[in-house]
Amino acid sequence: MQIKVDRKKCTGCGICVTECPKGGQIWHVDRRSKKAQADNLEFCHVCTICAAKCPVGAIEIIRDGKR
Ligand code: SF4
Ligand code: SF4
Repeated sequence: MQIKVDRKKCTGCGICVTECPKGGQIWHVDRRSKKAQADNLEFCHVCTICAAKCPVGAIEIIRDGKR
């Protein structure tokens, strides 16, 4: 699976970091660019909370190549 962040939409609000059950293990907001990025996806259990909570709809979860 992949988690894509639309960098044009992302405001760096950090809601994905606080709402994800794995939080900072997966999500980081780059201080300079103010853009969120998901890494360490081995911790992700694909609950899709991050995508649901992102206020600007910037997060896309792609399961095994399918959208
Ligand atoms: S919740 Fe959405 S807009 Fe906010 S930092 Fe995460 S990806 Fe960016
Ligand atoms: S799908 Fe769930 S566990 Fe995975 S990054 Fe999003 S909120 Fe976190």
